[in-house]
Amino acid sequence: MTGIPDILWLEEIRKEDIPSVGGKGASLGEMASIGLPVPPAFVVTSQAFRRFLIQTGLEEPLFTVLKGVNVDDNEALESAAQKAKELVNKANMPDDLKSEISTAYEKLRRTGEIVAARSSATAEDLPDASFAGQQETVLNIKGIENLLNAIQTCWASLYGARAIYYRTKQGFEHHTVNIAIVVQQLIPSEKAGVMFTSHPVTGEPLTIIEGSWGLGEAVVSGAVSPDKYVFDRRLERTTDRLVSPKIIEIIPDGNYGTITRDVESGRQEVQVLSDEEVKRLATYGIVSEEHYGVPQDMEWAIVGEKIFVLQSRPITTIKASGSMKKETTSGSSEKVILQGQGASPGLACGPVIIIDDIRDIGKVKDGDIMVTRMTNPDMVPAMRKVAAIVTDEGGMTCHAAIVSRELGTPAVVGTRKATQILTDGMVITVDGEKGLIYEGEIALHADNGKNVQVAVAAAPAKIITATSVKVNVSMPEAAQRAAATGADGVGLLRIEHLILGLNKTPNWFIKNHKEEDFISELMNGIKVVLDAFPGKPVWVRTLDAPTDEFRNMQGGENEPIEHNPMLGWRGIRRDLQSPTQFRLQIDTFKRLWDLGYDNLGIMFPMVSHPREFVLAKEQFRQAGVDVEKVDLGVMIEIPASAILIEDFIRAGIRFASFGTNDLIQYTIAIDRNNENVTDMYWPKHPAVLALIDQAIQVCRKNSVEVSICGQAGSDPDMVTWLVEKGITSVSSNIDAISKIRETVAKTEQRIILDAARNKNAN
Ligand code: PEP
Ligand code: MG
Repeated sequence: MTGIPDILWLEEIRKEDIPSVGGKGASLGEMASIGLPVPPAFVVTSQAFRRFLIQTGLEEPLFTVLKGVNVDDNEALESAAQKAKELVNKANMPDDLKSEISTAYEKLRRTGEIVAARSSATAEDLPDASFAGQQETVLNIKGIENLLNAIQTCWASLYGARAIYYRTKQGFEHHTVNIAIVVQQLIPSEKAGVMFTSHPVTGEPLTIIEGSWGLGEAVVSGAVSPDKYVFDRRLERTTDRLVSPKIIEIIPDGNYGTITRDVESGRQEVQVLSDEEVKRLATYGIVSEEHYGVPQDMEWAIVGEKIFVLQSRPITTIKASGSMKKETTSGSSEKVILQGQGASPGLACGPVIIIDDIRDIGKVKDGDIMVTRMTNPDMVPAMRKVAAIVTDEGGMTCHAAIVSRELGTPAVVGTRKATQILTDGMVITVDGEKGLIYEGEIALHADNGKNVQVAVAAAPAKIITATSVKVNVSMPEAAQRAAATGADGVGLLRIEHLILGLNKTPNWFIKNHKEEDFISELMNGIKVVLDAFPGKPVWVRTLDAPTDEFRNMQGGENEPIEHNPMLGWRGIRRDLQSPTQFRLQIDTFKRLWDLGYDNLGIMFPMVSHPREFVLAKEQFRQAGVDVEKVDLGVMIEIPASAILIEDFIRAGIRFASFGTNDLIQYTIAIDRNNENVTDMYWPKHPAVLALIDQAIQVCRKNSVEVSICGQAGSDPDMVTWLVEKGITSVSSNIDAISKIRETVAKTEQRIILDAARNKNAN
């Protein structure tokens, strides 16, 4: 035996103690040692767990159950997991271990009798082999019997199906992975939540805090839309706060576990944190960030006046700065096996799963790399799970590219032959920035040779620009990430993803008399985005799904077969010919306006003649909308609409936005999704620029807001040109906002300087 005790108190633990207390235990010990207000706790060490296995004679039968299990066979995996967990749960814990835990619990009870048991797994040589979220946490435990039960439940969770799967795929031997249990006083928090000590996307010194009522699990699990606060560390004050309706809360229930209950209506809209509390939390965040040297993702809880810190770990989403090189873990040189377009930045590695057919998506597991000809809306649930996405077809504006950028998942599109060259289970590394696929697992190393999980991005302070910098959103779940960029509004909310995600065509809802369901789904989705951008304009685009995208959905069998759906029955032309479908959308918008969301603007796609705008506006009027009060505008994505912009202005548009993804393809006759002509897709083609330039000048002359929401609005060179030409706003992808804001500011400063110099010279 090792000589390490079965129980260690937080005060005895440092970050080096991971093998005994796991990542979570070590982090809590370290936090307590620097004076952060961590609730008292002890850890049942991994040595205690080993002793339990040995003394109960479990080792042999347990590892026999796990040995050689084919983790790709779901049934075999589930059955092995079930047997292994049962063995652990049913075994009798040695009496002396029980009594040690009991003594420690008695001591902990002096500060509070309710505790939580949190799993903290670790491999022998790895800081965190717990693969977050795979092991149990039991909250609200009262009494020693309940605690012993909870500890055994947490131990057993080391053999859950997902945990076994990951260890096998990552090449860990099951017997080298241990588990420690943190037994901590449960803070019966009145409010709790999470905090990013620096901006999670840009790395700016902005502390982002999310909070809600009750226990923090409601925020961590995403069960509630929390309040959001932005604390600017340079100005030392809260610069932004968004109060959301907090519908539910999770609270302790009896002697064991928790319940979710409705928050009474009077408390739902109440602001959770005062400015004073935000400042105190941010200060703890700074202490932790400075101690660890990297921005932290923390959990906190407040009861009465007291703040507690429950967790602190490095943020992994901030883009690493500085020069990087890649190295295979074996040290051999990297081998590029495929190339395409880098559609969503980031590096990821994992086993390939080929999706030939939508029926295959059940096979997709967390951490896989999805390889498919082209993604479609049915695949979105699986796309949420995967570490990266690789497609044969498509360009920067295809479905896979748009969705993966919003999910923050690395993606390479248009490789032409990924589904032929890659095979199921093959481990690859995807570089979503450069568009490269490497054989095997490649570790990211900074030039100093240290393994880099996170590097602090030396990002500039949030810059105020005269040209608005807005963000594009397609999925409501990306709204918070989008808002966290500090964007000046949403320049394009595509509702297709929302509607396609329902898996039924609008016509299906109409035919089955489920119009109200359609309206409420659409309304709830849009509301999430409006709520994330209070007081900032959100331009929602009416439906623009080509017929081929509807075909796989219920009701899709009635969609016409079109030879060229891109030029077919889509956008405003379809809505004008389908009055009921259009009316359902208008009714949704009207209800939102009636609720007071006057930041909602509506944008019509694929207009080619001002008549279409006039007809659409008339439909709004007939539905009872005060059309002179609301913002109605158009996309400019057909050359005809750029040429006729003055007539559109006379027809009453309030704004226009360049949909360059389509404008380019229609101007130079290059299919945006066809990888055979990708090289000829030329955003800065002189004809495209000429159309944009003349439309900007006409809009400026008439004081009409003119923007861009196509992919070209995320390209710094293009944006420089657009700002020089006088565009009044740009709308970019979430991942591009920081760079685009900087580009806009620099261009504006140069224009001002040039003007001043010219004045001096005259
Ligand atoms: C565009 O065409 O530029 C645009 C933003 O619309 P979508 O990509 O949805 O066609
Ligand atoms: Mg378009």
